[in-house]
Amino acid sequence: MAAARPVGPRLAVDPTGAAPEAARRRGTATLQGPFEIAGRRVRRGERLQFELPMAQLYTQTPLDMAVEVIHGRWQGPVLLVCAGIHGDELNGIEIIRRLRTLSSLDRLRGTLVLVPIVNLFGFLSQSRYLPDRRDLNRSFPGTEKGSVAARTANLFFRSVVSCCTHAVDLHTAAVNRENLPQIRAALDQPGVEAMARGFGIPVIVNSGLLGQSLRAEAGKIGIPVIAYEAGEALRLDEKAIVAGVRGVVNVMRTLDMLPARRSRTVRAEPYVANATSWFRSPSDGLFRPLARLGAHVQQGDTLGVVSAPFSADDMVLAAPFEGIVICVNRLPLVNEGDALFHLARFGAVSAVEGEIASHDSGLAEDPLYEIESVEDIEREDAAEGDRD
Ligand SMILES: [Zn+2]
Repeated sequence: MAAARPVGPRLAVDPTGAAPEAARRRGTATLQGPFEIAGRRVRRGERLQFELPMAQLYTQTPLDMAVEVIHGRWQGPVLLVCAGIHGDELNGIEIIRRLRTLSSLDRLRGTLVLVPIVNLFGFLSQSRYLPDRRDLNRSFPGTEKGSVAARTANLFFRSVVSCCTHAVDLHTAAVNRENLPQIRAALDQPGVEAMARGFGIPVIVNSGLLGQSLRAEAGKIGIPVIAYEAGEALRLDEKAIVAGVRGVVNVMRTLDMLPARRSRTVRAEPYVANATSWFRSPSDGLFRPLARLGAHVQQGDTLGVVSAPFSADDMVLAAPFEGIVICVNRLPLVNEGDALFHLARFGAVSAVEGEIASHDSGLAEDPLYEIESVEDIEREDAAEGDRD
Protein backbone atom coordinates (compact mmCIF):
# COMPACT_ATOMS: atom_id res chain seq x y z
CA MET A 1 0.00 0.00 0.00
CA ALA A 2 1.40 3.39 -0.99
CA ALA A 3 2.23 5.57 1.98
CA ALA A 4 0.09 8.61 2.61
CA ARG A 5 2.02 11.84 2.31
CA PRO A 6 1.12 15.28 3.54
CA VAL A 7 1.24 17.87 0.75
CA GLY A 8 2.18 21.48 1.14
CA PRO A 9 2.24 23.43 4.33
CA ARG A 10 -0.52 23.33 6.88
CA LEU A 11 -3.35 25.55 5.78
CA ALA A 12 -2.85 29.16 6.70
CA VAL A 13 -5.09 29.99 9.61
CA ASP A 14 -6.04 33.16 11.34
CA PRO A 15 -3.51 33.43 14.19
CA THR A 16 -6.26 34.55 16.54
CA GLY A 17 -8.06 31.29 15.83
CA ALA A 18 -11.21 33.22 15.00
CA ALA A 19 -14.17 31.28 13.64
CA PRO A 20 -15.50 32.01 10.13
CA GLU A 21 -17.56 35.18 10.24
CA ALA A 22 -20.95 33.76 9.25
CA ALA A 23 -20.68 30.89 11.69
CA ARG A 24 -19.39 33.16 14.42
CA ARG A 25 -22.41 35.42 13.94
CA ARG A 26 -24.65 32.42 14.36
CA GLY A 27 -22.51 31.02 17.13
CA THR A 28 -22.23 27.70 15.32
CA ALA A 29 -18.54 27.42 14.42
CA THR A 30 -16.92 24.54 16.23
CA LEU A 31 -13.40 23.23 15.83
CA GLN A 32 -13.50 19.80 14.27
CA GLY A 33 -11.67 16.61 15.11
CA PRO A 34 -9.59 14.50 12.73
CA PHE A 35 -11.15 13.17 9.53
CA GLU A 36 -10.83 9.48 8.78
CA ILE A 37 -10.92 8.09 5.27
CA ALA A 38 -9.66 4.82 3.78
CA GLY A 39 -7.66 4.01 6.91
CA ARG A 40 -6.01 7.45 6.99
CA ARG A 41 -6.43 10.19 9.53
CA VAL A 42 -6.23 13.87 8.60
CA ARG A 43 -5.96 16.48 11.33
CA ARG A 44 -7.89 19.73 11.13
CA GLY A 45 -6.15 22.39 9.08
CA GLU A 46 -4.22 19.79 7.07
CA ARG A 47 -4.16 18.47 3.54
CA LEU A 48 -3.37 14.88 2.73
CA GLN A 49 -2.83 13.31 -0.66
CA PHE A 50 -2.76 9.54 -0.92
CA GLU A 51 -3.15 6.76 -3.44
CA LEU A 52 -5.82 4.17 -3.00
CA PRO A 53 -4.58 0.88 -4.48
CA MET A 54 -7.24 -0.03 -7.02
CA ALA A 55 -5.95 -2.78 -9.29
CA GLN A 56 -2.99 -3.86 -11.35
CA LEU A 57 -2.63 -3.67 -15.10
CA TYR A 58 -1.71 -6.96 -16.77
CA THR A 59 1.79 -5.53 -17.01
CA GLN A 60 1.71 -5.85 -13.21
CA THR A 61 1.87 -2.06 -12.99
CA PRO A 62 -0.09 -0.90 -9.96
CA LEU A 63 -3.09 1.30 -10.65
CA ASP A 64 -3.76 3.65 -7.75
CA MET A 65 -6.60 6.16 -7.39
CA ALA A 66 -5.25 9.56 -6.27
CA VAL A 67 -7.26 11.21 -3.50
CA GLU A 68 -6.73 14.56 -1.82
CA VAL A 69 -8.38 15.57 1.43
CA ILE A 70 -8.47 19.19 2.57
CA HIS A 71 -9.69 19.18 6.15
CA GLY A 72 -10.71 22.61 7.42
CA ARG A 73 -10.38 23.74 11.01
CA TRP A 74 -14.11 24.21 11.51
CA GLN A 75 -16.89 21.67 11.46
CA GLY A 76 -18.98 21.50 8.31
CA PRO A 77 -20.05 19.23 5.45
CA VAL A 78 -17.74 16.73 3.75
CA LEU A 79 -17.97 17.49 0.05
CA LEU A 80 -16.69 14.98 -2.50
CA VAL A 81 -15.79 16.40 -5.92
CA CYS A 82 -14.99 13.60 -8.34
CA ALA A 83 -14.29 13.33 -12.06
CA GLY A 84 -13.36 10.72 -14.61
CA ILE A 85 -15.97 8.13 -13.64
CA HIS A 86 -16.15 7.98 -17.42
CA GLY A 87 -12.47 7.69 -18.32
CA ASP A 88 -12.57 9.88 -21.44
CA GLU A 89 -14.23 12.88 -19.76
CA LEU A 90 -11.46 15.36 -19.02
CA ASN A 91 -12.96 18.76 -18.10
CA GLY A 92 -13.59 17.65 -14.51
CA ILE A 93 -9.95 16.71 -14.01
CA GLU A 94 -8.93 20.28 -14.84
CA ILE A 95 -11.75 21.70 -12.72
CA ILE A 96 -10.39 19.80 -9.70
CA ARG A 97 -6.80 20.83 -10.48
CA ARG A 98 -7.83 24.50 -10.33
CA LEU A 99 -10.14 24.07 -7.38
CA ARG A 100 -7.41 22.68 -5.13
CA THR A 101 -5.24 25.80 -5.61
CA LEU A 102 -7.85 28.33 -4.44
CA SER A 103 -6.46 30.22 -1.49
CA SER A 104 -9.98 30.67 -0.06
CA LEU A 105 -9.70 27.00 0.97
CA ASP A 106 -7.61 28.35 3.86
CA ARG A 107 -10.95 29.42 5.31
CA LEU A 108 -12.66 26.10 4.66
CA ARG A 109 -15.39 24.96 6.98
CA GLY A 110 -15.82 21.21 6.76
CA THR A 111 -13.84 18.96 4.46
CA LEU A 112 -13.18 18.75 0.73
CA VAL A 113 -12.40 15.34 -0.78
CA LEU A 114 -11.04 15.46 -4.35
CA VAL A 115 -10.77 12.49 -6.72
CA PRO A 116 -9.81 13.69 -10.21
CA ILE A 117 -9.72 10.33 -12.00
CA VAL A 118 -12.00 7.59 -10.69
CA ASN A 119 -11.92 5.29 -13.72
CA LEU A 120 -8.17 4.97 -14.24
CA PHE A 121 -8.58 2.05 -16.63
CA GLY A 122 -10.76 4.14 -18.94
CA PHE A 123 -8.49 7.17 -18.58
CA LEU A 124 -5.48 5.16 -19.76
CA SER A 125 -7.35 3.74 -22.74
CA GLN A 126 -9.12 7.09 -23.46
CA SER A 127 -12.42 5.30 -23.08
CA ARG A 128 -15.64 5.88 -21.19
CA TYR A 129 -15.70 2.26 -20.06
CA LEU A 130 -13.74 -0.25 -18.06
CA PRO A 131 -11.78 -3.11 -19.67
CA ASP A 132 -14.81 -5.37 -19.19
CA ARG A 133 -16.81 -2.90 -21.34
CA ARG A 134 -19.00 -1.97 -18.43
CA ASP A 135 -19.98 1.56 -17.49
CA LEU A 136 -18.72 2.45 -14.00
CA ASN A 137 -21.65 4.81 -13.53
CA ARG A 138 -24.03 1.85 -13.89
CA SER A 139 -22.05 -0.32 -11.45
CA PHE A 140 -22.48 1.34 -8.03
CA PRO A 141 -22.33 0.48 -5.20
CA GLY A 142 -20.37 -2.46 -6.57
CA THR A 143 -19.22 -5.67 -4.95
CA GLU A 144 -15.92 -7.00 -3.72
CA LYS A 145 -16.06 -10.20 -5.75
CA GLY A 146 -17.85 -8.95 -8.87
CA SER A 147 -16.69 -7.77 -12.30
CA VAL A 148 -13.83 -5.29 -12.83
CA ALA A 149 -16.44 -2.52 -12.87
CA ALA A 150 -18.15 -3.82 -9.73
CA ARG A 151 -14.83 -4.02 -7.85
CA THR A 152 -13.76 -0.52 -8.93
CA ALA A 153 -17.16 0.86 -7.96
CA ASN A 154 -17.05 -0.95 -4.62
CA LEU A 155 -13.59 0.38 -3.73
CA PHE A 156 -14.50 3.98 -4.57
CA PHE A 157 -17.94 3.81 -2.98
CA ARG A 158 -16.88 2.09 0.23
CA SER A 159 -13.54 3.85 0.78
CA VAL A 160 -14.37 7.37 -0.39
CA VAL A 161 -18.02 8.13 -1.16
CA SER A 162 -19.39 6.69 2.07
CA CYS A 163 -17.11 9.05 4.08
CA CYS A 164 -18.74 12.14 2.55
CA THR A 165 -21.98 14.01 3.19
CA HIS A 166 -22.45 15.65 -0.26
CA ALA A 167 -21.01 15.10 -3.75
CA VAL A 168 -20.53 16.88 -7.06
CA ASP A 169 -19.82 14.43 -9.90
CA LEU A 170 -18.14 16.03 -12.95
CA HIS A 171 -18.93 14.79 -16.47
CA THR A 172 -18.94 15.78 -20.14
CA ALA A 173 -21.12 14.52 -22.97
CA ALA A 174 -20.32 11.12 -24.43
CA VAL A 175 -17.70 10.99 -27.17
CA ASN A 176 -18.48 13.11 -30.29
CA ARG A 177 -21.16 15.08 -28.53
CA GLU A 178 -20.96 18.44 -26.78
CA ASN A 179 -23.04 19.44 -23.79
CA LEU A 180 -24.09 22.94 -22.86
CA PRO A 181 -22.93 23.35 -19.25
CA GLN A 182 -25.80 21.97 -17.18
CA ILE A 183 -26.61 20.37 -13.86
CA ARG A 184 -28.33 16.98 -13.79
CA ALA A 185 -30.10 16.36 -10.56
CA ALA A 186 -33.11 14.55 -9.11
CA LEU A 187 -34.62 17.57 -7.40
CA ASP A 188 -37.02 15.55 -5.28
CA GLN A 189 -34.15 13.89 -3.39
CA PRO A 190 -33.24 15.37 0.02
CA GLY A 191 -30.56 18.04 -0.16
CA VAL A 192 -30.21 17.91 -3.94
CA GLU A 193 -32.16 20.99 -5.01
CA ALA A 194 -30.17 23.41 -2.83
CA MET A 195 -26.91 22.14 -4.34
CA ALA A 196 -28.28 22.17 -7.90
CA ARG A 197 -29.54 25.75 -7.60
CA GLY A 198 -26.49 26.78 -5.61
CA PHE A 199 -24.16 25.78 -8.46
CA GLY A 200 -25.41 28.90 -10.23
CA ILE A 201 -25.56 28.00 -13.93
CA PRO A 202 -28.60 28.66 -16.14
CA VAL A 203 -29.72 25.09 -16.91
CA ILE A 204 -30.75 22.37 -14.47
CA VAL A 205 -32.14 19.19 -15.96
CA ASN A 206 -34.39 17.55 -13.39
CA SER A 207 -33.49 14.03 -14.37
CA GLY A 208 -34.51 10.75 -12.83
CA LEU A 209 -32.06 8.38 -11.25
CA LEU A 210 -30.57 5.64 -13.39
CA GLY A 211 -30.13 2.38 -11.51
CA GLN A 212 -26.67 1.83 -10.04
CA SER A 213 -25.46 5.33 -10.95
CA LEU A 214 -23.48 7.24 -8.34
CA ARG A 215 -26.36 9.70 -7.96
CA ALA A 216 -28.85 6.93 -7.27
CA GLU A 217 -26.74 4.78 -4.97
CA ALA A 218 -25.20 7.59 -2.91
CA GLY A 219 -28.70 9.05 -2.53
CA LYS A 220 -29.85 5.76 -0.99
CA ILE A 221 -27.33 6.18 1.83
CA GLY A 222 -28.32 9.81 2.37
CA ILE A 223 -25.64 11.59 0.31
CA PRO A 224 -27.09 14.18 -2.10
CA VAL A 225 -25.26 14.19 -5.45
CA ILE A 226 -25.47 16.55 -8.39
CA ALA A 227 -23.78 15.94 -11.74
CA TYR A 228 -22.20 18.77 -13.74
CA GLU A 229 -22.21 17.99 -17.46
CA ALA A 230 -20.24 20.27 -19.78
CA GLY A 231 -18.34 20.02 -23.03
CA GLU A 232 -17.05 17.04 -24.96
CA ALA A 233 -15.21 13.84 -24.11
CA LEU A 234 -11.46 13.88 -24.87
CA ARG A 235 -11.39 17.68 -25.03
CA LEU A 236 -10.74 20.49 -22.57
CA ASP A 237 -13.21 23.36 -22.87
CA GLU A 238 -12.13 26.54 -21.10
CA LYS A 239 -15.59 27.98 -20.51
CA ALA A 240 -16.93 24.67 -19.26
CA ILE A 241 -13.96 24.45 -16.90
CA VAL A 242 -14.34 28.00 -15.56
CA ALA A 243 -18.09 27.55 -15.11
CA GLY A 244 -17.34 24.29 -13.29
CA VAL A 245 -14.80 25.81 -10.89
CA ARG A 246 -17.19 28.69 -10.20
CA GLY A 247 -20.06 26.29 -9.74
CA VAL A 248 -18.31 24.08 -7.20
CA VAL A 249 -17.21 27.17 -5.26
CA ASN A 250 -20.82 28.40 -5.36
CA VAL A 251 -22.00 25.04 -3.97
CA MET A 252 -19.43 25.30 -1.19
CA ARG A 253 -20.78 28.75 -0.36
CA THR A 254 -24.33 27.40 -0.42
CA LEU A 255 -23.29 24.70 2.05
CA ASP A 256 -21.57 27.38 4.17
CA MET A 257 -18.18 25.74 3.63
CA LEU A 258 -16.77 29.04 2.35
CA PRO A 259 -17.75 32.59 3.25
CA ALA A 260 -20.14 34.33 0.87
CA ARG A 261 -18.38 36.53 -1.63
CA ARG A 262 -19.43 40.14 -1.50
CA SER A 263 -17.78 41.22 -4.75
CA ARG A 264 -18.89 40.55 -8.33
CA THR A 265 -19.30 36.88 -9.14
CA VAL A 266 -20.36 34.76 -12.09
CA ARG A 267 -23.58 33.27 -10.89
CA ALA A 268 -26.63 32.71 -13.05
CA GLU A 269 -30.30 32.35 -12.24
CA PRO A 270 -31.02 28.64 -12.76
CA TYR A 271 -34.02 27.35 -14.71
CA VAL A 272 -35.29 23.81 -14.42
CA ALA A 273 -36.09 21.63 -17.43
CA ASN A 274 -38.50 18.89 -16.48
CA ALA A 275 -38.47 17.21 -19.88
CA THR A 276 -35.83 16.69 -22.54
CA SER A 277 -35.73 14.61 -25.69
CA TRP A 278 -33.28 13.59 -28.37
CA PHE A 279 -33.74 14.56 -31.97
CA ARG A 280 -32.56 11.61 -34.06
CA SER A 281 -31.35 11.61 -37.63
CA PRO A 282 -34.10 10.70 -40.10
CA SER A 283 -31.49 9.68 -42.69
CA ASP A 284 -27.89 8.57 -43.29
CA GLY A 285 -25.25 10.96 -44.53
CA LEU A 286 -23.13 13.91 -43.49
CA PHE A 287 -24.63 16.04 -40.75
CA ARG A 288 -24.11 19.79 -40.42
CA PRO A 289 -25.56 21.42 -37.30
CA LEU A 290 -26.95 24.93 -37.83
CA ALA A 291 -28.45 25.55 -34.40
CA ARG A 292 -25.79 26.36 -31.81
CA LEU A 293 -25.54 25.02 -28.30
CA GLY A 294 -27.76 27.06 -25.97
CA ALA A 295 -29.96 28.30 -28.84
CA HIS A 296 -33.67 28.85 -28.30
CA VAL A 297 -35.46 27.13 -31.18
CA GLN A 298 -39.14 27.36 -32.10
CA GLN A 299 -41.07 24.38 -33.41
CA GLY A 300 -40.21 24.07 -37.14
CA ASP A 301 -36.91 26.03 -36.93
CA THR A 302 -33.99 24.53 -38.82
CA LEU A 303 -31.69 22.58 -36.52
CA GLY A 304 -29.31 21.36 -39.21
CA VAL A 305 -29.07 19.38 -42.43
CA VAL A 306 -28.08 15.88 -43.49
CA SER A 307 -26.77 15.27 -47.02
CA ALA A 308 -25.86 12.07 -48.80
CA PRO A 309 -22.50 12.31 -50.66
CA PHE A 310 -24.02 12.21 -54.19
CA SER A 311 -27.22 14.03 -53.38
CA ALA A 312 -27.91 17.57 -54.53
CA ASP A 313 -30.45 17.92 -51.75
CA ASP A 314 -30.04 18.79 -48.12
CA MET A 315 -32.46 17.07 -45.80
CA VAL A 316 -33.53 19.88 -43.49
CA LEU A 317 -34.01 18.93 -39.83
CA ALA A 318 -36.85 20.85 -38.21
CA ALA A 319 -37.18 21.31 -34.45
CA PRO A 320 -40.08 19.13 -33.24
CA PHE A 321 -40.95 21.54 -30.40
CA GLU A 322 -39.84 24.81 -28.84
CA GLY A 323 -36.85 24.43 -26.54
CA ILE A 324 -33.19 25.01 -25.77
CA VAL A 325 -30.41 23.03 -27.47
CA ILE A 326 -28.46 21.43 -24.60
CA CYS A 327 -26.36 18.92 -26.58
CA VAL A 328 -25.13 18.72 -30.18
CA ASN A 329 -23.57 15.82 -32.05
CA ARG A 330 -20.11 16.83 -33.33
CA LEU A 331 -19.45 13.85 -35.62
CA PRO A 332 -20.71 14.56 -39.14
CA LEU A 333 -20.97 10.88 -40.12
CA VAL A 334 -24.43 9.79 -39.10
CA ASN A 335 -26.73 6.85 -39.54
CA GLU A 336 -30.48 7.02 -39.44
CA GLY A 337 -31.44 7.02 -35.77
CA ASP A 338 -28.25 8.64 -34.44
CA ALA A 339 -28.86 11.24 -31.74
CA LEU A 340 -28.11 14.71 -33.20
CA PHE A 341 -29.58 17.23 -30.77
CA HIS A 342 -30.76 17.10 -27.20
CA LEU A 343 -33.58 19.60 -26.64
CA ALA A 344 -34.86 20.74 -23.27
CA ARG A 345 -38.31 22.14 -22.56
CA PHE A 346 -38.70 25.05 -20.15
CA GLY A 347 -41.66 27.07 -18.96
CA ALA A 348 -39.88 30.41 -19.47
CA VAL A 349 -37.77 29.49 -22.47
CA SER A 350 -36.93 33.07 -23.56
CA ALA A 351 -35.63 33.88 -20.08
CA VAL A 352 -33.40 30.79 -20.22
CA GLU A 353 -31.90 31.89 -23.53
CA GLY A 354 -31.10 35.33 -22.07
CA GLU A 355 -29.61 33.82 -18.93
CA ILE A 356 -27.37 31.50 -20.96
CA ALA A 357 -26.11 34.45 -23.03
CA SER A 358 -25.38 36.61 -20.01
CA HIS A 359 -23.70 33.74 -18.12
CA ASP A 360 -21.59 33.05 -21.20
CA SER A 361 -20.40 36.64 -21.52
CA GLY A 362 -19.81 36.78 -17.75
CA LEU A 363 -17.47 33.81 -18.07
CA ALA A 364 -15.64 35.38 -21.01
CA GLU A 365 -14.94 38.45 -18.88
CA ASP A 366 -13.96 36.39 -15.88
CA PRO A 367 -10.28 36.85 -14.99
CA LEU A 368 -10.03 33.08 -14.54
CA TYR A 369 -11.02 32.64 -18.14
CA GLU A 370 -8.49 35.10 -19.54
CA ILE A 371 -5.42 34.34 -17.55
CA GLU A 372 -6.11 30.87 -16.24
CA SER A 373 -4.77 31.86 -12.89
CA VAL A 374 -6.58 32.00 -9.62
CA GLU A 375 -4.11 34.38 -8.02
CA ASP A 376 -5.40 37.58 -9.57
CA ILE A 377 -9.00 37.00 -8.61
CA GLU A 378 -7.93 36.10 -5.10
CA ARG A 379 -6.00 39.38 -4.93
CA GLU A 380 -9.08 41.15 -6.28
CA ASP A 381 -11.15 39.56 -3.53
CA ALA A 382 -8.69 40.68 -0.89
CA ALA A 383 -8.60 44.23 -2.29
CA GLU A 384 -12.38 44.38 -2.11
CA GLY A 385 -12.32 43.38 1.52
CA ASP A 386 -13.71 39.90 0.93
CA ARG A 387 -12.29 38.39 4.08
CA ASP A 388 -13.98 36.76 6.99
ZN1 LIG B 1 -19.99 10.93 -17.98
